[in-house]
Amino acid sequence: MKKLLAFTAFAAAAAGVYAQEFPAGKTVTLVVPFSAGGPTDRVARDLAEALQKTLGTTIVVDNTAGAGSSIGTAKVARAAPDGYTLLLNHIGMSTMPALYRKLPFNVENDFEYLGMVNEVPMTLIGKPTLPANNYKELTTWIAANKGKINLGNAGLGAASHLCGLLFQSALKVEMTPVPYKGTAPAIADLLGGQIDLLCDQTTNTTSQIEAKKVKAYAVTTSKRLTTPALKDLPTLAESGLKDFEVSIWHGVYAPKGTPAPVLKKLNEAIKAAMKDPGFVKREEALGAVIIADKRTEPAEHKKFVSAEIAKWGPIIKAAGVYAD
Ligand code: ASP
Repeated sequence: MKKLLAFTAFAAAAAGVYAQEFPAGKTVTLVVPFSAGGPTDRVARDLAEALQKTLGTTIVVDNTAGAGSSIGTAKVARAAPDGYTLLLNHIGMSTMPALYRKLPFNVENDFEYLGMVNEVPMTLIGKPTLPANNYKELTTWIAANKGKINLGNAGLGAASHLCGLLFQSALKVEMTPVPYKGTAPAIADLLGGQIDLLCDQTTNTTSQIEAKKVKAYAVTTSKRLTTPALKDLPTLAESGLKDFEVSIWHGVYAPKGTPAPVLKKLNEAIKAAMKDPGFVKREEALGAVIIADKRTEPAEHKKFVSAEIAKWGPIIKAAGVYAD
């Protein structure tokens, strides 16, 4: 018993020293499982800048993109649990378990949850040469072009993929999915006319809509948005797709087994970043809403992700889409 107490005291002291030292001037890597320049990447870079101030160390963003975020997510699940490798991912954490038959990680068991960061609405946009100028005209165009429509996405499990699935099932129309490693290359191809439609976060679509470089049809939230460039866009729900609602949330994760004092330090740094005026301003400009409730706490973050897995699983299974 004495021995055990001594060991416990030693372990607690060691953890305390570790937390005090962490990050000890060492670089922290924040893995983004999508390509550079997209919505997840933008949130990560803004967050990294704010975190650097609190943690007093360099945070580098590592874009390990592909397979709807599962490659980058797996990389973090396998990383050393020391706080120096973190993941920023979105709603894909809750859709991947239903979309992939074989995932090399378990979303609920293989990660430490560090808190949610923001929620971002999505927009349905079209290539510049698409003849439809509003949602009503879009539905007419879709009906006339069945079987010929290409719908971009950032891979199976991406937010754009989920939105596209819901859109097709609500309309009862099948479109050809065109996967990319992230939104940045998908938007580039939409601008070039290689794909017809894309549903993606306001983070990257707002500036294109504002500059009238793409056609904009609707927002995916239950209420219209107030951003000047988007305020006239109808919601899909008010356009006849009853109850259509998707909003993309982001959260931060560490490999399972990261020491508790390090997790505490990281969670506190994330919460401080969310009060950083520069971070808040940049997020608002991208149409993102900072999480201001208890989901910034690891336990509530985890609870929320589990509820999202339960929510999206049956919807995805009903759509019959999966990858081996
Ligand atoms: N917005 C993308 C998605 O559809 C991913 C990205 O951030 O590039 O999931």
